[in-house]
Amino acid sequence: MATEIRFSSQIPLSLYIHFPWCVAKCPYCDFNSHALSGPLPEEAYIDALLADLELELPRVWGRVVHSVFLGGGTPSLFPAAAMDRLLSGVRARLSLAPDAEITMEANPGTVEHDRFEDYRSAGINRISLGIQSFDDRHLKTLGRIHGGDEARRAIDSVRAAGFDNFNLDLMWALPGQTLDQALADVDQALEFAPAHLSHYHLTIEPNTLFAARPPQLPAEDAAWDMQDACGQRLAEAGFRPYEISAWARPGAISRHNLNYWRFGDYIGIGAGAHGKITLPAEERIVRTRRKSHPRPYLNAAEDLSFIAEERPVGTEDRVFEYFLNRLRLAEPVPLAEFEDRTGLARECLGEPLHQARELGLVEVETDHLHRTEKGARYLNDLQALFLP
Ligand code: SF4
Repeated sequence: MATEIRFSSQIPLSLYIHFPWCVAKCPYCDFNSHALSGPLPEEAYIDALLADLELELPRVWGRVVHSVFLGGGTPSLFPAAAMDRLLSGVRARLSLAPDAEITMEANPGTVEHDRFEDYRSAGINRISLGIQSFDDRHLKTLGRIHGGDEARRAIDSVRAAGFDNFNLDLMWALPGQTLDQALADVDQALEFAPAHLSHYHLTIEPNTLFAARPPQLPAEDAAWDMQDACGQRLAEAGFRPYEISAWARPGAISRHNLNYWRFGDYIGIGAGAHGKITLPAEERIVRTRRKSHPRPYLNAAEDLSFIAEERPVGTEDRVFEYFLNRLRLAEPVPLAEFEDRTGLARECLGEPLHQARELGLVEVETDHLHRTEKGARYLNDLQALFLP
């Protein structure tokens, strides 16, 4: 049985804002994104987001927000003026750290050539571009609305607007992809000198078009070879893998993502957004989920019923949720952090830690543990040891 202690009152806080529309739905995508039909309800959605944020204020009173992530869907469908109004509204309601990381996701093909300067003026200081591949054939299979040339032009625009801190999303193990093609994508990305690269294995998620009509994916061995070879290329270029799929140059780790994986707190607003807030005085953690579909979410502005679900995180779930996130990171896990963020004493970890050590998946020191190379490769098995 887990032993309860006190939560830290210093858990870092982030803000996630979801934008649920895309130009078209990609066949592999299981995010809360909806193909846009008709005009974007720009004004109404920003109004709803600010009203939604106000609901959360009593729970985070006096806390400083260290990062904001405008994710989707495709936030870059919204013009810079809308983002300016939104971020001004956020600043008026929350205490934003002066050096807060403010990221916006953008997709090639949805932003005009000169718009990135305006996003920068609105206060956005980090861009994450959904490139996925530079190869037109693979982009077509993935149902992306852009081609390789558009991807390159979008990156050039981001750089020309003065964003040094930008991320490129790339996927590997694509249908029909060879090792050389996966490497060519990485090489092409490196030519643009990104600060951060998210390098995802394409997986077939339930309730997607790919799940209904699965494409032929590279064999498992071939996929491992791609991961190893691409990883080596990134390491040679000075990137470090600080998380399973996230590579960064020194000093360019995404603070926002790091906060998720370290089991930090985040307010989640917008259609379908998830949030997690620790309430030390009440000795509990609550998770929240907003109404998913854009229409009910917008309608909720009438009676402020944005929240679809709110639940406390039970003691046993806290252990699993902490390690589910935390073990994705390459860094050691301080046991004091486990206690601060879960409100549980380290003694409750006896059995799963013993098993993980026996299996060679982690090494345990006096005040921290870290996953081994084997633990990184068999991450799912390691995480499963902490299931309630
Ligand atoms: S652009 Fe991104 S969020 Fe939108 S459908 Fe494609 S994968 Fe999903």
